[in-house]
Amino acid sequence: MTSSHTLSAGLSRRYVEGFYIPKKAPVAKKVKHKQPRQVKDMSHPISQSHEQAIYLQAFFGGMLGVAFIARLPSMVNWVMARGIQRATFLHKGEIDGPGAYPFSVIAKSPFNKGQSAKPNVFKRFTVWLAPTANTPLPGISLTAGQAFVFALATAASLFVFAYGPTNPIKEPSRAGWAAVAVTPAVTALSFKNSIVGTMGGWGYEKLNKLHRLLGRLCVLFALLHTAGYAHKSTLSGSTAATLKTPLYQSGILAMVGLLLTAVLSVPWCRTNFYNLFWHSHWLGYWIYLIAIMIHWKQTQPFIIPCIVFYGVDCIMRFCRSRSRLAEITPHPAAGYTTITIPDLRGGWEAGQHVYLRVQELGGKLFGLGNLIEKHPISIASAIGGSDGLRLIIRSNGDWSSRVLALAQRKQNEITYGTHEVGPEKAGHDSVPTAAVTVEGPYGGPLYTSFGKNGHVLFVAAGSGLAFVLACAEDLVKQSRGGHARATTCQVIWIVRDVATYQVFHEELMTLLVAASLVPLDLTVKVFITRHGNAAGVSSDDLTYLLPHRDGEILAKRPSIAAIIEDAVFMAKDRHCTYGMVVGICGPPSTVRSCRAAIGGIDPRYLKEIGGLSQHCETFGW
Ligand SMILES: Cc1cc2nc3c(=O)[nH]c(=O)nc-3n(C[C@H](O)[C@H](O)[C@H](O)COP(=O)(O)OP(=O)(O)OC[C@H]3O[C@@H](n4cnc5c(N)ncnc54)[C@H](O)[C@@H]3O)c2cc1C
Repeated sequence: MTSSHTLSAGLSRRYVEGFYIPKKAPVAKKVKHKQPRQVKDMSHPISQSHEQAIYLQAFFGGMLGVAFIARLPSMVNWVMARGIQRATFLHKGEIDGPGAYPFSVIAKSPFNKGQSAKPNVFKRFTVWLAPTANTPLPGISLTAGQAFVFALATAASLFVFAYGPTNPIKEPSRAGWAAVAVTPAVTALSFKNSIVGTMGGWGYEKLNKLHRLLGRLCVLFALLHTAGYAHKSTLSGSTAATLKTPLYQSGILAMVGLLLTAVLSVPWCRTNFYNLFWHSHWLGYWIYLIAIMIHWKQTQPFIIPCIVFYGVDCIMRFCRSRSRLAEITPHPAAGYTTITIPDLRGGWEAGQHVYLRVQELGGKLFGLGNLIEKHPISIASAIGGSDGLRLIIRSNGDWSSRVLALAQRKQNEITYGTHEVGPEKAGHDSVPTAAVTVEGPYGGPLYTSFGKNGHVLFVAAGSGLAFVLACAEDLVKQSRGGHARATTCQVIWIVRDVATYQVFHEELMTLLVAASLVPLDLTVKVFITRHGNAAGVSSDDLTYLLPHRDGEILAKRPSIAAIIEDAVFMAKDRHCTYGMVVGICGPPSTVRSCRAAIGGIDPRYLKEIGGLSQHCETFGW
């Protein structure tokens, strides 16, 4: 229809039956004058970098998601075996009889599936992956798995920094956003009660390496950002004026905070001045968080989650603390102190550690320092024992020596009498006690169930035996209740001298006796490294120290590679098809040797025994 047709049709309708029907005056519509929306100018370099920082968060979230999915079966297993209940001090330590491990997957289906002669692709892949991922890389203190995760996170961060239409060096805001984007990941990896650790079943101490590496990356980006703007203002000759603005002042403060955390956390400082490192670290971190939010408001969505993580961690640490009266026994000849808390009988998984505060220690700000000073110590007993929670501390520094001195002083008071005890009560068979606070438990093997494997090998060096004692005792208890698949358990302990051996002698004997009553072939082999050299004493002269048919003491330094190889052959000879697990605890050098030895084993043997997994604990960072 043309436009003239439309017009005539419209007119005829208005003159219907001689009446003129006026056309309705159009109602004036209220036109809302919308405020023009503030559209972000995404072409602006700062907005682009902001957006890329959000993508980086999504990428980190994705990495976490993949790791979580990979760990999900183990997590479900652990939760069903009542892991959550057993890993809090609310648990009372019931382990014997019906009711222990009630939902244990192992207990429900011990051997019903059998081991297929030809493992499927997934099984073959995991048999290859686990030892490969844990193999230490030469020259750096990282395993292949850790290096892979770090490389991935670094590549993503560098991509955010370097990719874009602007030059990352000429546009310093990009480095700033990269630093801010890495901050939540660095924070999430640092806390004892972190969601990352809880979901993946990794102790915070395992995530700490990644925390440090990403932290350094964050500092590097922040330095580039600061240097870039400093250069710009120098070129424009406005340095003095810009330094007076709150934007620049808060930026400099944030940088100072970051440098405080970074510089004083170098390994030398952590080892020699731990308290200086620790207090500067949290102080610098808070300075950075607050200053960066003042510096640039848009950083708040990145920083507020960090503050929430921190708050949750503080609350959890408080909730997971218990103050009790503990028995403290000195072993001055070896330089060890044993602390036993009979009141705490359950609430930890074998292999976990607690943070210990000993309030009664003297010195340090009139004793006030002891209220906050706490140290990580492995729990040396399994749950449900009559002794309760046991800790064994080696004196190798200021705090541990003061603990030994306190124990000795208290012991002397009991033996010889003092003002408080009185000479009439002296010599009585009482045990020295002190008020302590334990916080935790943390870390440990969590999803790695030693009992689920057919063959278990524990390798400990020095006070690392504390970790092994707890795990082996737990294994014996599981075996007694019919919850363990393990049929063989070898305990290898490398120790410096006989005096140190004596500290642990009673626990080792108790373990051997308990194991002889359950269907578990448990043997203990002790290597004393300095005895023979000093006195020319042969191994035969030491056998009286461990009078048990399954115990052996040798005066020599062993080859860790040979120990691990022998254990694999033993598992093969015994037709173990449920896998072998190695639990290692000791100084970093021992852990590295074990990992390297495991990485060097022929995968064909590993396939034959059903794979090999490992759990390593290091008494340091
Ligand atoms: C997970 C874990 C479990 C441990 N279990 C045991 C155990 O069962 N028995 C045992 O004797 N030792 C154990 N340690 C080591 C113990 O924590 C240190 O020996 C102790 O903190 C030393 O303190 P110090 O002041 O006596 O010695 P220092 O000379 O001050 O320190 C010696 C070493 O301990 C580190 N260290 C010092 N203070 C702390 C702290 N507050 N937190 C963390 N590390 C610190 C230092 O970096 C240094 O490397 C464990 C360590 C870790 C990380």
